[in-house]
Amino acid sequence: MKDRLVRGLLPGAGARVVFARVGDTARMCRVLHGLYPTAAHLFAEGLAAGLLLASLQKDRARVNLQIQSDGPVGGLFVDAHPGGEVRGYVRGASVHFPGDPRLGARAALGGAGTLSVIRDQGDGQFYRGSVELEAMEIGADLRRYFAESEQVDTALDLQVVRRGEEPLGDACGLLVQKLPGGDPEAVQRVRERLAGGALAAALAAPAPAHEVIRAAAGEGFDLLADQEVAYVCGCSQERARSAVAVLGAEGVAEILSSEGQAVVTCEFCRQRYVVGQRELEEIRGRLGAG
Ligand SMILES: [Zn+2]
Repeated sequence: MKDRLVRGLLPGAGARVVFARVGDTARMCRVLHGLYPTAAHLFAEGLAAGLLLASLQKDRARVNLQIQSDGPVGGLFVDAHPGGEVRGYVRGASVHFPGDPRLGARAALGGAGTLSVIRDQGDGQFYRGSVELEAMEIGADLRRYFAESEQVDTALDLQVVRRGEEPLGDACGLLVQKLPGGDPEAVQRVRERLAGGALAAALAAPAPAHEVIRAAAGEGFDLLADQEVAYVCGCSQERARSAVAVLGAEGVAEILSSEGQAVVTCEFCRQRYVVGQRELEEIRGRLGAG
C-alpha cells in the first residue's frame, strides 16, 4: 500500500476526515536515520501525526510537531506540508525496548515532556500550542492537544502494524474532526469506535485508504483529495552557509584557523555540505563588515 495523505468529509456527521499512511516513508527513515526498532516505531507515529496536523493547515502553510521528553529517545521533530511533503528526525536513534512496541515507545519517551505544534500562519507569523505529555503516547497526547489547546472536537488514532517479520508493515493515522455546525455525537461515536480498536482492525489485512477510512470512521465518506506522501528536504549549500554564519565572525575565524573548512550535515536528510575556505572567508568578511 503506497503512502498517501487522504482528505474528505463525513457529510452526515458534519466532520472532516484525514487519513495518513506512512509505512514506506517510515521504513526509508529507519535506514536514513539509522533508527533502532523503538525509535523507528515512534518516528512512524510522528510522521503520521505530522501529516494529519499539516492537512488541517490553511493556505498550504507548513506545520511542525515537536516532542521533547526526559526518556532515552529525548524527542522528535516532524516538519510537514499539507501537500504531503514531510521530513523529520529523532533525537535518540539507538533506542530499543524488546517486547510490545507500544509499551517500548512509552518507555522510550520516559516520564515527562511536552508535545508542541508550531503552525506557520502563512504570513511569517507562527502559532505555537503545547501540552504536557501525560499518556506518554503520541496519539493519546495529541488527542489531549486538540481538546485543550485547539478546543476542537476531534477523534484520532495512530497505528503501526506488523506484517510478518516487518515491524513497520503499515503505519497510519486517522483523524475525524467536527466542522462548525457538525454533530458532536457523531464524532463521539467515531471516537468510541477508534478507542475500541477500529483502526487497528481495519489495518489487520492490507487495504486501500478508502476502505480503511470506511471501516474505521464509518460509511458515507466523500473524498476531497488523495495525495502522495513524499520525504522532501529543502536543505542546500546556501542554508549550510547560513548555519555556519550563526557562529559569528569569531567562530568562523576559529574554524578557518583550525580545520579550514566546515562540514554541515542536514539533520533531516543526512546530506553533507562542505563549506570551504573561500566560502568561510567570504562569510567572515560579511559578518565582520556587518
Ligand atoms: Zn536536508
